[in-house]
Amino acid sequence: MRVYVLSRNKALYSTKRLVEAAQLKGWEVRVIDYLKCTIEIMKGELHVNYLGEQLPIPDAIIPRIGASRTFYGTAMVRHFEMMDVFSTSGNLAIARSRDKLRSLQILSKHDVDMPKTVFASNKSTAKDVIALSGGAPLVLKILEGTQGVGVVLVDTEKAAKSVLDAFYGMDVNLLVQEFIAEAGGADIRVFIVGGEVVGAMKRQGAAGEFRSNLHQGGSATAHKLTRKEKATALAAAKAMGLGVCGVDMIPSERGPLVMEVNSSPGLEGIEKSTNIDIAGKIMEYIEKNVTPRSETNLKK
Ligand code: ADP
Repeated sequence: MRVYVLSRNKALYSTKRLVEAAQLKGWEVRVIDYLKCTIEIMKGELHVNYLGEQLPIPDAIIPRIGASRTFYGTAMVRHFEMMDVFSTSGNLAIARSRDKLRSLQILSKHDVDMPKTVFASNKSTAKDVIALSGGAPLVLKILEGTQGVGVVLVDTEKAAKSVLDAFYGMDVNLLVQEFIAEAGGADIRVFIVGGEVVGAMKRQGAAGEFRSNLHQGGSATAHKLTRKEKATALAAAKAMGLGVCGVDMIPSERGPLVMEVNSSPGLEGIEKSTNIDIAGKIMEYIEKNVTPRSETNLKK
């Protein structure tokens, strides 16, 4: 089996673990910096050039696309998919997951619960948007933010109005969301591979912080999912169509509420808190879905 990990950085924990797990299977594995790939397209022929060489066609790719590189990264994933290469996450699903608004629209359609969310352009008035969202306290989220950056809690109507006015004035796209106080700064990350839960952790935000992101100083511990949490996470992953993903949910009085579904979830927090070989599970998923090309095909 020949596998490429599409990642910009060989030294990242997740990348290293994926390489290790593939090597343990005895597979040929390479880390490919997708920004250094050149796409070649001709009638009936698709190639990828990498650092001056034509890349042999792999059997599978594992995309680890950075949020700021979604356009080029998904183009590369699509190119490999057009070459009939199995991808642990499809390009369309990755693109969908990168847009918080689009994700919530899809999740809602599939009956997955989330905090009530309002989206409006800067032509609407802050007062109306606040009223529709159910009033302060509210959470404002910049559409393309990640790792908790661009997620703001506003306590009062007055603060909500001035922050909204400022964002709308700068023409920033943002979601306005009901604040789930009972989540208490905690969230649950469920790691899903091939339609199965392979691990779950609870992340608790630093003291005084409502965001649980590890990048914002949160800490992680293994978490035993309730039946409802498990069902919600699986439904969210299925709705988004992602083979490998991390579903983020916050606990609430009305059950787990999905925040987002991450298409390149980090392995470090989940492996270290649960002691589960998540990278190995991803290899098993590939093994189940891929028949390696014959030697003749490899030379194509
Ligand atoms: P990002 O994609 O930047 O991680 P999220 O939407 O996941 O942004 O929000 C970051 C964190 O903030 C969440 O993991 C959660 O802990 C907290 N959070 C987000 N939205 C809400 C909300 N509506 N109510 C309570 N806490 C929230």
